[in-house]
Amino acid sequence: MIRNRFRPLTRRQFLIGAGAAMAGAALGCGRSGTPTPTSGVTPGAVIPITPAAPPDLAANTVLLGGHVLTIDAANTVAEAVAVRDGLIQAVGTNADADAWVGEATQVIQLGGRTLTPGLIDAHNHFQVVGLMNSYYTPFLPPDVVTTDDLQAALAEAVAQTPEGEWIKGYFFIIQDVGLPTRHDLDPVSPNHPVFIIQQGGHYGSANSLALEIAGITADTPDPTGGVIGREDNGTPDGIFYNHRAMDLVRLHIPRYTQDDVRLNIQTSQTLFSALGVTSFQDNNVRGTDTVSTYMDAGRQGDMTMRGAVYYTLEWPADVERALNEMDHYADAFMRFAGFKFLLDGQMTMAYCHEPHNGHRWDIPTWDPDGFKEAVRLLHDTGLQICVHCVGDAAIDLTLDAFELAMNANPRSDPRHRLEHAVITTPQSTQRIRDLGVVVSTQPQFIRLGGDGYADLLGEERARRAIVTREWMDAGIPVALGSDAPSTPWYSPLATLIGAVTRATFSGAVHEPDQAMTPYEALRAHTLVGAYAAHEEDVKGSIEPGKMADLIAWSIDPTHSTVQELWNSTIDLTMIDGQVVHQSGDLSLVPRRAGNL
Ligand SMILES: [Zn+2]
Repeated sequence: MIRNRFRPLTRRQFLIGAGAAMAGAALGCGRSGTPTPTSGVTPGAVIPITPAAPPDLAANTVLLGGHVLTIDAANTVAEAVAVRDGLIQAVGTNADADAWVGEATQVIQLGGRTLTPGLIDAHNHFQVVGLMNSYYTPFLPPDVVTTDDLQAALAEAVAQTPEGEWIKGYFFIIQDVGLPTRHDLDPVSPNHPVFIIQQGGHYGSANSLALEIAGITADTPDPTGGVIGREDNGTPDGIFYNHRAMDLVRLHIPRYTQDDVRLNIQTSQTLFSALGVTSFQDNNVRGTDTVSTYMDAGRQGDMTMRGAVYYTLEWPADVERALNEMDHYADAFMRFAGFKFLLDGQMTMAYCHEPHNGHRWDIPTWDPDGFKEAVRLLHDTGLQICVHCVGDAAIDLTLDAFELAMNANPRSDPRHRLEHAVITTPQSTQRIRDLGVVVSTQPQFIRLGGDGYADLLGEERARRAIVTREWMDAGIPVALGSDAPSTPWYSPLATLIGAVTRATFSGAVHEPDQAMTPYEALRAHTLVGAYAAHEEDVKGSIEPGKMADLIAWSIDPTHSTVQELWNSTIDLTMIDGQVVHQSGDLSLVPRRAGNL
């Protein structure tokens, strides 16, 4: 394709100079934009912005005959879109399209399909999806649902692994025990250290040999923010709750290589773009080396999807790394966007104000003062901070930290984020709005756990789970994400359906008044997703000057039944004006003007 050669502007320059608005003012595309690779802190890494082609030039591609949901401020519905140099050049009717087509214009007949902005997955663990299918051995349903199944599958893995080597795996649920102990693993793995994680990512189970190698005994204290499962006499039972406890074992396991990460990034791009995702935000990148591998993928032109990456701080020593060792690269495909903390774990470890019936309700993963200080330091970098919060106390501690940092350094629109935000109070909803915080959430969690919320939290508190309607009514930006691979679903369809139905596994509906409409869910998965990463000026809606990231659906996702939506396909994914995925009978043959 034609790469534009204009000098890239920063977003700030763009906003100052734009005056005459979005039309024509256009935005960065292509990997030809001069990146801003530096080490150390570069406040506010932004996507470089370049001017669009003049509207009188012929389009590279015209898509027409569609039902185009632009998701612009007026909810405009159009029929045709022109694309040039990776940007949306014009939006209009089929009749308008005649004027856009030149000698070499590729014309895509949408045949009535619905065209929307590409989906933006505001929370996933992009490269870990690959790890789950390579580095780890899956012990998943339907093959593994009981302890007997797990032992049989583990015995098989043992037979294929040289003695003494680690077996790393993941499981979804072991129905008879919930989380397996060392006693469940030991009988079939006497000579192999074993560490398997629950798919949600915050619990791990080790066998006795793994405990021995990691030096974990009855005398080992729980780390701050983590819990070592114990038997009555204090002996570790093999279960580790929260990342800091899991790290006691995990740091003894040979880590995946950066070659693995490179491969995982490539694999995930193919997987997600076929599902209609054109941008992802990886909110859990562990290790400065993995951050660098992501940035290198951008630098070397290996990205066909667009990614924003957040470095996870697990331990206090990571603050120094976050401040001094980040690769602040940014181009239109890959960008270092900020930082991530996890302040509690999954539901049974939700850090709450009042007791619940899970494993522990009263511990944040960070010492509160250390957390506030870390947030303050990172706020000053000019980048975003995302905090994983499940319980209401985790949310309030995070809001306290944001508020302190913002008062100490009142820079404009830091747009910090709550990830998940499962249990909020009405008071915290008001604070989230007042602080300009984004909620990045996953209502599809309700399908996984909703049937158990009342037993875990009590009826009243359970009603507070993922209150999307309350947040939207308060004016809070609510972005949606898959959290893949922490849930069994990578598809954005599961996310959209979860937001709209709030259905539990048993088929009950959890607080239907809190549901999004299908259109709201689509908007939350496109434009609000862009907003969640400071990218709404350049993507998330179909408007002239924005990035040409478009998808064609086999159905209209805003007017279909749940079953139709679940059975739908993405027939075309375009990123940066390039078709990266196509299925069905779309005509992609270049045609000359007059042949329309
Ligand atoms: Zn996550």
